[in-house]
Amino acid sequence: MNSAGQLAALLSRELPGQVHEHVRLADVSRWRIGGPAAVFVEPTSSKAAARVMAIMAERPEPLFLMGDASNTLFDDAGFSGVIMRIGRNLSSYRITSNSIWAQAGIWVPRLASAAGDAGLSGIEHTIGIPGTLGGLIVMNGGSQRKGIGLNVKEVLCADEAGHMFRLDREACGFAYRTSSLQSRRVAILEATLELEHGQRRSIRRELLGILRERRGKFPQKLPNCGSTFLSDPEMYKHIGPPGRAIEEAGLKGLRKGGACISALHANFIINEGGATSDDVLGLIALIRNEVFQRTGYLMNCEVRHLSPEGRLRPAHEAAIERWPEPPLRIADS
Ligand SMILES: Cc1cc2nc3c(=O)[nH]c(=O)nc-3n(C[C@H](O)[C@H](O)[C@H](O)COP(=O)(O)OP(=O)(O)OC[C@H]3O[C@@H](n4cnc5c(N)ncnc54)[C@H](O)[C@@H]3O)c2cc1C
Repeated sequence: MNSAGQLAALLSRELPGQVHEHVRLADVSRWRIGGPAAVFVEPTSSKAAARVMAIMAERPEPLFLMGDASNTLFDDAGFSGVIMRIGRNLSSYRITSNSIWAQAGIWVPRLASAAGDAGLSGIEHTIGIPGTLGGLIVMNGGSQRKGIGLNVKEVLCADEAGHMFRLDREACGFAYRTSSLQSRRVAILEATLELEHGQRRSIRRELLGILRERRGKFPQKLPNCGSTFLSDPEMYKHIGPPGRAIEEAGLKGLRKGGACISALHANFIINEGGATSDDVLGLIALIRNEVFQRTGYLMNCEVRHLSPEGRLRPAHEAAIERWPEPPLRIADS
């Protein structure tokens, strides 16, 4: 048995039925990009997820925690270690008075909708974000200039040794589209959110309005990872958001292999079919360079690239490493 087989067998003994080998990451990621993961685990309880953390702490192979991979670019070469998906197997929630307790794998639009149905207001802005609560907390995701951190009361995590502990909002270090959880090797298992009582009807109206606006603004049909680049407040003041800067650089519709800069919203890179991670990274390098030449601002990525060896970093850093000289602007199809 090879080492991936041994690792899968070891994990399977403790998590029967929850471990798979050679899972194509293109099949489980939003961008539909990525080669095979050696081992893929989907724990069915917080305890099992914590156990995976403890087992992997003793192993040389890398571990990556994923929700829905709606902010993650997997590599065409795949992943040499274990991917633990905290998703629908861990998606219970409970509403009490003005707070919601939920497991980290819950689908964010479902949670926003459930809060609205209970007459609780505060997370309407997350209704159109296609990810899990765990991923949203790590990224401090949100829209309308808000982040989920505003509503987080407490997060239950497991550390590398598999010990569970709680963090309050302050300890999560939330800032614009980031949190201190990004630099800690922890699994988010559960969270409690604090909301405000509101009018069910007006919350519903707000949710529908946000969804309608997003449908008109963002590409819906083809695989993508949402906004590729982060908005920089200085650049916003002088030039505008990344989408505008990319559009004004004349890059809308530009293709590299199967990847294309969306004609609807220039900060989205869509997979038109068969896009590779190199196609996406190539477009990222090119966009960054062209926008810099025109505006003097270097944009950084919100989307993060996972290398086959387990290095997770903003995708522009992987793009720069791959193309120290920016690629030529060729509209290859
Ligand atoms: C069409 C579209 C629209 C989008 N719109 C928005 C938007 O309006 N606002 C916005 O903020 N984002 C948006 N995004 C980006 C993305 O949906 C969010 O960042 C989302 O919160 C990521 O959740 P995820 O579960 O997919 O995370 P993943 O991509 O799976 O993971 C993101 C990060 O969180 C970590 N992680 C995930 N789960 C856990 C866990 N349980 N424990 C520890 N670490 C974990 C991963 O290791 C990774 O570092 C959009 C994406 C798409 C495809």
